[in-house]
Amino acid sequence: MSVRNTIFQAAMEALYFSGSHLLLRPLIGGVGAIVTLHHVRPPRHAAFQPNRLLEVTPPFFEKVIRRLRRSRADLISLDEMHRRMTERDFKRRFVCITFDDGYRDNLQYAYPVLKKYEVPFAIYVATGFTDHVGEMWWLALEAVIAKQEMIAVRLDDEDRWFNCGTPQEKQAVFEHLYWWLRARKTEDELRHVVRELAARYNVDTSKYCAELCMTWQELAELAADPLCTIGAHTVNHVILAKVSDNDVRAELENSRAVIEAALGVRPQHLAYPVGDRTSAGPREFKIAADLGFKTAVTTRPGAIFKGHGKHLMALPRISLNGEFQRPRYARVLVSGTATSLWNGLRPINVS
Ligand SMILES: [Zn+2]
Repeated sequence: MSVRNTIFQAAMEALYFSGSHLLLRPLIGGVGAIVTLHHVRPPRHAAFQPNRLLEVTPPFFEKVIRRLRRSRADLISLDEMHRRMTERDFKRRFVCITFDDGYRDNLQYAYPVLKKYEVPFAIYVATGFTDHVGEMWWLALEAVIAKQEMIAVRLDDEDRWFNCGTPQEKQAVFEHLYWWLRARKTEDELRHVVRELAARYNVDTSKYCAELCMTWQELAELAADPLCTIGAHTVNHVILAKVSDNDVRAELENSRAVIEAALGVRPQHLAYPVGDRTSAGPREFKIAADLGFKTAVTTRPGAIFKGHGKHLMALPRISLNGEFQRPRYARVLVSGTATSLWNGLRPINVS
């Protein structure tokens, strides 16, 4: 992952300094972009922050929003994006701002900025997180590695030992275990390994939701603002590709029903948890379409092209990544050029 990031960064730097992202834009920049965010919060200063790519600081967020406001792109809601895609109204470039999971810092730090610049936005809610019963397993993994010098993990029925004394070792162990977990065939297996590890090292996996995620009351405060769209993001934040057809259907339907019951609005838009190619593919796109969602977003990187009008259940997004918080990156990212390069110049990738 870090190798990919380095290449990506180099590609973005080259594009930025050559100015070619602006020249290429009409060709590969697409008709718009959907931006992904998770946390917006003040930086922490720990050396070991493996999940830092999921957070940007409030000043960086404001810079990006200000820059977008001054750009020629329209900042629009998901419903308006859907209208433009289905009516093929591509007169003006658009940007949608979206947040995944339902973190409290969205209300605390992002919302005042969105309000100030009158920017429509969407929050994709995993209802188990809002109920404060979800398992944020990637944070439990981080916490175990952060506090131990050495850990034993049960992998493929044997205990394996890992040194994690230094920040570099911690990072390496995190990446190894994270991708090992992501390679498990089922979500149950993944969760089981993390639960066992957390129990062994006294990490409370249940505390993160209450600490980090909004309550229904806080979410209702946001949902009351016409700028805000609430989307679905499953109940248990499972990697859908690792569960049965019935479970995929249940996760999508139930999250929609719970949100409707709690907030009085039926979500029309969906984000697949994790959302990369290994988490959501043609089966998930089909089920989302069958259930009548108007749009569904992945985390596959890319701008939106006219052709995505036929693939509204598999929309790519552009992540505002905490590793790339230099303001000039925002322009490159939102131009779509860097992510098109990332995709090997295949603008539409829905397989
Ligand atoms: Zn998520």
